[in-house]
Amino acid sequence: MTHIALNHGAIVLTAPSGSGKTTIARYTIGAFPELQFSTSATTRSPRDYEEDGVHYYFLSKEEFEQKIEAGEFLEYEEVYPGCYYGTLISELFRIDKEGPILLDIDVKGAMKVKQLLQDSAITIFIHPPSLEELKQRLVQRGTESNEWLSTRLQRAKEEMTYRDRCDHVVVNDDLEQAVEETLSIVSQFLKAKHCHNGQP
Ligand code: 5GP
Repeated sequence: MTHIALNHGAIVLTAPSGSGKTTIARYTIGAFPELQFSTSATTRSPRDYEEDGVHYYFLSKEEFEQKIEAGEFLEYEEVYPGCYYGTLISELFRIDKEGPILLDIDVKGAMKVKQLLQDSAITIFIHPPSLEELKQRLVQRGTESNEWLSTRLQRAKEEMTYRDRCDHVVVNDDLEQAVEETLSIVSQFLKAKHCHNGQP
C-alpha cells in the first residue's frame, strides 16, 4: 500500500500499555468532539465493560486472519503472542467522512500509520514516568493475570525504545499536565489542518 490521503488528518496516540494513553485519549475526544475515534479489531477477549463495535471489533483468530488475507487492514500487529490488533481500512474511510481521526494503537502500528499517512498524521508518544510506575498502574487496573502482566511489562521495555521516532513525546507523570500538553499538540495540528479554531 502506498500513501493514503485523508480529508481531515489523523492523530495517533501511542505508548506502552498502562501509560495512561487511553485515559488521555478520552480527555482528548471530550475536548475536541469533532475527533472520530478509530475502533480497532482484536482477537483478545473482551473485558467486562467492553462492547463489540465500541471499544473494539472482537474477532476470532480465523476471522482476523481472513481479513489479513483479504488486505482489509491498514496495519495490524500481533501485539502480544497469539493476540492480533489492527486498524481496518473500512473503519478509517468511514470515519474520515465525519472528521479528523484519533487512533490509540501500539508503537509499531503507529510507525506504519505514519509511514502511510505521512503529513496527514502526527504521532504522540505517551511516556510513563518509569517501568516501576507502569507496573503499579497495571496491577492497580486489575484487568490482567500475572502471566499477562509480565508479558505486557516485557513488551513495554521494547516499546519505550520507539519514543524518539514519534513526532511528539508527552511524559505522563502528572495526568492533568499530560492532558494539557496533548490538547495543545492536537489543537495546533487541527488548526494547521483547518479542522478547528484552535480552542480545546
Ligand atoms: P489493550 O489490550 O490494553 O486494549 O491494548 C493493547 C495494546 O494494543 C495497546 O497498546 C493498544 O493501543 C494496542 N492496539 C489497540 N488497537 C490497535 C490496532 O488497531 N493496531 C495496533 N497496532 N495496536 C493496537
